[in-house]
Amino acid sequence: MTRKTHKFDFCVIGGGIAGLCAAISAARQGAKTAIVQDRPVFGGNSSSEMRVHVCGADRHGKIPNVRETGILEEVRLENLKRNPQRSFSIWDTILYEKVLLEPNLTHFLNCSVLDAKMEGSRIKSVTGWQLTTYTYHTIEADIFADCSGDGVLAPLTGAEYRVGREARSEFNESHQPEVADRKTMGMTLLFQARDMGSPQPFEPPSWAYDFPTEESFPHRSHGWVEMGYWWIELGGEQDSIADTEEIRDELLKIVFGMWDHIKNHGDHGAENYALDWVQFLPAKRESRRYVGDHILTQNDIESEGRFPDIVAYGGWPMDDHHPGGFRHKGEPTIFYPTPSPYGIPYRCLYSKNIENLMFAGRCASWTHAALSSTRVQGTGASVGQAVGTAAAIAVREKITPREVGKRYIDELQQSLLRQDAYLPWVKQRFSDLTTKATPQATSGDPEPLRDGINRPVGDQLHAWTGKLGDSVSYTWQGPQFVKSATFIFDSALDKLIAMSYHGPYPALKDVPETLVRDFRVEIRSGGDWQIWREVRSNYQRLVRIDIGAEVNGVRATFDSTWGSDAVRVFAFWLE
Ligand SMILES: Cc1cc2nc3c(=O)[nH]c(=O)nc-3n(C[C@H](O)[C@H](O)[C@H](O)COP(=O)(O)OP(=O)(O)OC[C@H]3O[C@@H](n4cnc5c(N)ncnc54)[C@H](O)[C@@H]3O)c2cc1C
Repeated sequence: MTRKTHKFDFCVIGGGIAGLCAAISAARQGAKTAIVQDRPVFGGNSSSEMRVHVCGADRHGKIPNVRETGILEEVRLENLKRNPQRSFSIWDTILYEKVLLEPNLTHFLNCSVLDAKMEGSRIKSVTGWQLTTYTYHTIEADIFADCSGDGVLAPLTGAEYRVGREARSEFNESHQPEVADRKTMGMTLLFQARDMGSPQPFEPPSWAYDFPTEESFPHRSHGWVEMGYWWIELGGEQDSIADTEEIRDELLKIVFGMWDHIKNHGDHGAENYALDWVQFLPAKRESRRYVGDHILTQNDIESEGRFPDIVAYGGWPMDDHHPGGFRHKGEPTIFYPTPSPYGIPYRCLYSKNIENLMFAGRCASWTHAALSSTRVQGTGASVGQAVGTAAAIAVREKITPREVGKRYIDELQQSLLRQDAYLPWVKQRFSDLTTKATPQATSGDPEPLRDGINRPVGDQLHAWTGKLGDSVSYTWQGPQFVKSATFIFDSALDKLIAMSYHGPYPALKDVPETLVRDFRVEIRSGGDWQIWREVRSNYQRLVRIDIGAEVNGVRATFDSTWGSDAVRVFAFWLE
């Protein structure tokens, strides 16, 4: 058996959306980072192995202008451009490429972390078994982030964690039961069916359940056959880690029995449909939840979470699935209202008792009631980016994640805003280079470009709006050293861009027409403007142009968009 040891600054365990965002952001902020993922692809529940579409604070585009930006937006815009056919394998490839092309990031795929070495209350290393190479990889790092969903490091490190529902009285949460229990939300197997253009017979396997009548599916609509049913769910009354294999077998019997019902018991409008894909690896909603310095609760969410150390946000309703899942004859879930957005504090993202352990995704520090909202992957992306950015500060300063919260929270928030993450109620600040420059625009008021809010909020647009061919510029009396110019364009935060097979949600299938496509950046040395960079076919919201020169002005001219006559820019700043 081969054994290898590696040394990194930061190690992320689990390559779901939360883990990916943590790893990419840390690597971009300068930390030598490893991501260890036990599957052949990244994406966790959103990958081609599971196909759960990514939702977040905008609730399938129903709440305008609260969509998660930052790394998730970058990935989604890449996906819109390159995956109009909505293939989950292409989605996998785009996630893989984001890791592959990140210079500070090393990936260990097919590698399952199963051991940890401690030095007192610090993690020294983790070890994973790589299935494809028959190799044990030991990874030493300064900071670790558990983004495995199941919180694999909790029992291995002695980190405090919880399982199940809190008693109502513990945090005064009205959604919780009177008495605490170990029940959770269950896990699901999805399926996809395809219209083959001609009638398709189906013969169920002998071991599938038989569901001859509609009474088998109370409160469970099954009209849409292209994406499976989230309510084919079990495991909430068992151990959602130890019993996973047994639960999978039971779910498969339900999935095939369900498809037999659709095909062979009554008219479900699916005569021409055939099963194209059946999920074999259950997608989970809940198992271990770490305990951090703060445990986010139902009340925190309901009161908007305006914490001073806000570093991420959510907005999905508290969507509390019944632990009985498919066996429960009542409504499979209860949607309790939440504000969108609500803030998530940094103190939920590192361990209370293990000094170099952070976490993101569903295993972070929240009660069961709060998890019923925070578990969605858009929120995981927001939280993951915060964890990675904080880890990079911890590595740079050689301090613990807790100390980052005490001493660097302002830097952490401002760094996230510069990466185009959104933090409700926190304004981006700019250096003198931007604030002391003279702004000009060939039409319209340029001031919103540096107002520190980079999306529409309430009835305020927070953008400069011009027409094709217009320019905006910053100039100074004397020369200034400018490292880079950054722009935030309009990627239609009022529309849905998530990749989904779900019929009722009309998502865009091409680059939003409001995005700036072709533009030019000019610099002025002395009195003359000269072209510095011409950008063609841009399809990203955040664009940074390296300059690295002494200049007395920077100007951008917007030649085209992807269809809109108006040009909208939310931010333009210089560093
Ligand atoms: C059927 C279903 C429908 C849902 N609907 C939605 C929805 O519509 N939209 C939405 O956004 N969310 C939805 N959710 C919730 C959401 O999918 C999960 O809460 C979310 O994926 C959790 O993210 P995560 O990154 O914590 O975990 P995951 O997405 O599970 O990612 C964790 C990754 O870590 C890996 N891992 C685990 N253990 C190890 C180990 N020991 N070593 C290395 N790697 C490891 C796993 O393989 C996985 O890839 C749904 C969930 C289910 C089950």
